[in-house]
Amino acid sequence: MCGIIGYAGTKQAAPVLLSGLDALEYRGYDSAGAAVFCGGKIKTIRTAGRISELRAKIESEKPEGTVGVAHTRWATHGEPSERNAHPHTGSDGVFTVVHNGIIENYLVLREKLSAAGRVFLSETDTEVISQLLEENYDGDPLAALQRTVAGLEGSFALGILCADFPERIYCACRESPLLAGTGGQCSLIASDTSAITDKADKIYRMQNGETAVLDKDGIAFFSPDGIRIEKREIKVDRNLDEVGKGNFEYFMEKEIYEQPEALKRTISEHISDGRLKAGCPVYGVNLIKKIFIVGCGSAFHAAVVGKYVFESLLKIPTEADLASEFRYREPLIDDSALVVIISQSGETADTLAALREATRRGARTISIVNVEGSSIARESEAVFMTRAGREVAVATTKAYSTQLAALYILALYIARETKAVDDERLGSLTRELSLLPGKVSEALNRSGEVLRAAEKYAGRSYAYYIGRNLDYASALEASLKLKEISYVHSEAYAAGELKHGTISLIEDGTLTVAMCCCGRLAKKTAGNIEEVAARGGSVLCVTTAAIAPLLGGDTKIITVPSSDELFMPSIEIIPMQLFSFFSAKLRKCDIDKPRNLAKSVTVE
Ligand code: GLU
Repeated sequence: MCGIIGYAGTKQAAPVLLSGLDALEYRGYDSAGAAVFCGGKIKTIRTAGRISELRAKIESEKPEGTVGVAHTRWATHGEPSERNAHPHTGSDGVFTVVHNGIIENYLVLREKLSAAGRVFLSETDTEVISQLLEENYDGDPLAALQRTVAGLEGSFALGILCADFPERIYCACRESPLLAGTGGQCSLIASDTSAITDKADKIYRMQNGETAVLDKDGIAFFSPDGIRIEKREIKVDRNLDEVGKGNFEYFMEKEIYEQPEALKRTISEHISDGRLKAGCPVYGVNLIKKIFIVGCGSAFHAAVVGKYVFESLLKIPTEADLASEFRYREPLIDDSALVVIISQSGETADTLAALREATRRGARTISIVNVEGSSIARESEAVFMTRAGREVAVATTKAYSTQLAALYILALYIARETKAVDDERLGSLTRELSLLPGKVSEALNRSGEVLRAAEKYAGRSYAYYIGRNLDYASALEASLKLKEISYVHSEAYAAGELKHGTISLIEDGTLTVAMCCCGRLAKKTAGNIEEVAARGGSVLCVTTAAIAPLLGGDTKIITVPSSDELFMPSIEIIPMQLFSFFSAKLRKCDIDKPRNLAKSVTVE
């Protein structure tokens, strides 16, 4: 979601800015722009389209200069258009701003600034920042920035050019990630390490309220009180795995097939030779009386899986919570609660806020994240790293799979510590878990039958997903996968719920996908499948060879390898990821960058 890159150095800025935007592109955006100092004057180029369109405009307008900022916008206030694309310049033409985040008091500020005679050219909340900077300016841009930041409510990462200082970039942030770095004769800012790891030798993370001034010779950092500070460089993993598409046409496809390896990497850090390593990532687990697992989107669906697994294994009441709800619902938690926070990027704004709320209420916290050193990793008491590697496609696959593995392993650690399961069961679960990558691989090898199913059903404009217990959790994720990339309207229901309302929508040919890998409840789900078929609905069912004979004759079946029931979500989701992928491809959708979606959701 939304990206910032800034460069002050000795090379031409525009190509550096464009390569930074390319690296940020995977996060999702709807418009883009850049501003470069050309002969001491700020030249701004913006487009309502893709980075390739911005590149074409830049190539034709040739902004020559060695200092500039650029942005990919994920619109929150005002439609995605050239007029609303960043950078935004104040009425005096002195300050030009790129912004990630949301200014919550922008309406009040806009009214005041308009009353003072300032003319707004966009509908964005961002434009109040450039105007306010100019109102607060008396020749010292840093002082203006510090005064401006004090008057802003909400979240922001800012990259700023001031027309009076054409060799500099100013920046600041609050609740929105921003990095600053230095390389040979240059300084940079970026909202994500991926945009600058190839250009900066040293990278620093800006903290809430801090400001900085950059030029080609280095960076001066200032505390929220305006005092000059030294910052410690952060460790960045520069060996980011291959970010190309390899032999695949789409990132999502490549990432689907990377799942066995990603699982192996994640599991092998904790299980070797079929044995769980010593220790437990969370201290004092015997005192834990309640567990909350919190996430957004697919991470929430992983949390739902976690709820079933934790309650079944640990016998500790567990809730799966949506981060955006958890943070505002006054959850009843104290130091006897463990809050498990899940976020691929470790920067998801709602999830970060939920973590802070849990910490404020005294809960024990552990995060499951894929990015080391991310905000969520830094702020939680313990961290469980998923080793999915970099995920580029907006629709998550391998990160989700490794989140599930992390939850299983965490459950095993806690179960051993609290003696919730005996050694024999613990041993068999641990061994079964180490077999999971192989079983996922086997499920991937059966893609042919999934493709045939997609060819049969891709033309439908809506679908229902049903399942019970862990199959229900998988139905939630399978349904989200389909809707987010193929734009087919789909809903997931606990299989027993369909008859309490939604079954009225089932008519001839309506597609219902049944997840049915939970042996204990298979007969119950089989009954629900019959109810759908009896009303003319078509049923596609994901199940195991052992369960398949229980299902009615007309059901189209996709079989997957079996495992312990607790781990089936990891296997049954594979054909559903492929089904969504094939459906989206047949429907000619932009698979890696679905409309309106962003990879790392850094606004509320
Ligand atoms: N709220 C700002 C806008 O709508 C910034 C959005 C972003 O973070 O890209 O323009």
